[in-house]
Amino acid sequence: MQPDITRRNALAGIAAIGVGGLVATSTQASSTESAVLTLDDLGWDPATSQYTLPPLPYAYDALSTAIDEQTMRIHHDKHHAGYVRGLNNALAKLDEIRWDHTDGKLIQHWQRQLSFHMGGHINHTLFWSGMKSEMSGGGGQPTGNLNQAIKRDFGSFGKFTKQFKLAATKVEGSGWGWLVYEPLSKRLLVTQMQNQQDMMFAGAIPLLGVDVWEHAYYLKYQNRRADYVGAFMGVIDWDETSRRFEAARK
Ligand code: MN
Repeated sequence: MQPDITRRNALAGIAAIGVGGLVATSTQASSTESAVLTLDDLGWDPATSQYTLPPLPYAYDALSTAIDEQTMRIHHDKHHAGYVRGLNNALAKLDEIRWDHTDGKLIQHWQRQLSFHMGGHINHTLFWSGMKSEMSGGGGQPTGNLNQAIKRDFGSFGKFTKQFKLAATKVEGSGWGWLVYEPLSKRLLVTQMQNQQDMMFAGAIPLLGVDVWEHAYYLKYQNRRADYVGAFMGVIDWDETSRRFEAARK
């Protein structure tokens, strides 16, 4: 495949979910210090022009105080893998039909598929690496600039926690709760997301997300989503979230 096709694929996907500030290409950011996410984080393989599923950054049972091993296995190996597959498929279909202007409906269909699956891939990649075990220092509170910004924009860490948990718990149907950086006002916001992309506004840079699809918690928590979100707070990787915050502000 031609290199320019590869580049078009990647840029098309990123533009689709309206988070242009989120992902840096590998050449722009070989270091993870300078981007919230890199294409390497997303398993982008330039040789095949496809995304691949990166492994979990810890053992399947590492977060068992909050999320059980079986849920982690199914969620990562089956659900997340499905988004990666759907993303590659949508990119391929769009490449086939993108320049055929006689069938706009197909473009709309596959663009929608791209938006959903690329959202799914990005969201889950941020989700896994936004957590770590309690033994490894997960949970607690952020420090430094992120701590200051949370106090400034929410009043206190406690008020942020309350708002974040409420937003995540009250997502209608399937979706996510997010802490995002809004680069125009340079402020932190808590937002809801439906499905893998809906309701997220253009320019919002996701810093920390909790997956509240039932597949994320149902085996252990059944209908008790609030309990799951509460347990999630105990495995947040605030060091990684702070790193993302610094990258987003650049
Ligand atoms: Mn999920």
